[in-house]
Amino acid sequence: MRRALLAVGLAILGTVGATTQTQNLDKVEVHVLHVQGNVYMLVGAGGNITVQIGDDGVLLVDTSYEPMSSKVVAAIRTLSNKPIRYIINTHVHEDHIGGNAPIAKLGATIAGGNMGVGANTGAAIIAHENVLNRMSAPTGQQASSPSAAWPTDTYFTKKKELFFNGEAIEIIHQPSAHTDGDSIVFFRRSDVVSAGDLFLTTTFPVIDLQRGGNIHGIVEALNRILDITIPKDKQEGGTYVVPGHGRLCDEADVLEYRDMVTIVRDRIQDMVTRGMTLEQVKAARPTLDYDGQYGGKTGPWTTEMFIDAVYKNLSTKAKSQ
Ligand SMILES: [Zn+2]
Repeated sequence: MRRALLAVGLAILGTVGATTQTQNLDKVEVHVLHVQGNVYMLVGAGGNITVQIGDDGVLLVDTSYEPMSSKVVAAIRTLSNKPIRYIINTHVHEDHIGGNAPIAKLGATIAGGNMGVGANTGAAIIAHENVLNRMSAPTGQQASSPSAAWPTDTYFTKKKELFFNGEAIEIIHQPSAHTDGDSIVFFRRSDVVSAGDLFLTTTFPVIDLQRGGNIHGIVEALNRILDITIPKDKQEGGTYVVPGHGRLCDEADVLEYRDMVTIVRDRIQDMVTRGMTLEQVKAARPTLDYDGQYGGKTGPWTTEMFIDAVYKNLSTKAKSQ
């Protein structure tokens, strides 16, 4: 039996290529979780997928790895037989866009067979224009994505609005954060935010320096999510937040993460201001009290890589001022 072995992780090729984990995707299952309202969360390998369903069809936020596509579609079909009309990409990494081409294509087949509306066009793929720029003109040695996977509908403003399945959906650009093309997706009626890799429960924030990531943008993104979310009175719940990787969260979880990221950033900023070298900063262990929860010595995004990236962001900024 042939098995699809490929690099699994945060797919920041070139930055973390040497440390990416391999995982056999044949064995990975896709689990479906109802978040609330019209919105569901699919969890498997790669990034989490958010699904919105209704009379108009199916909308996805992100598509995971390409070899996961048939399982992703099978999971969607347990929720809805309507055509897949929209795919929104939160950013450019392979673990979030890998299934774009096969899933978008399937959208066309279903639309043609059942609907007769927009047939032969496939599902529209929406993303910030920097996602298209990086997929269509990648730098370095990374192979370009096939054109069938490219966004068909890009935006370059602060926000793009969509009305689908009786629900207002806001697609909000967050400049220079995890990458330079991040979007937050807010389902207003269902009261669910899909955060992409701007918010993770599994590691310290991933900052893709090669693709325009910046620690300040991560903090701003987390604050933006907190502006949107409203907790249930003295209870868990209220607005739910689907992270790029990890478990379903609410405002309290984002608040805790935002505080952690802000504290660590400010510690490293202080060390940079005092003229400490990267080695001295690492030796001072600015993440120590959070290492148990978010740290790691192995895997695609280690504590050391996080400190490295933050240091580079902050020391570059200090020099330019
Ligand atoms: Zn990512």
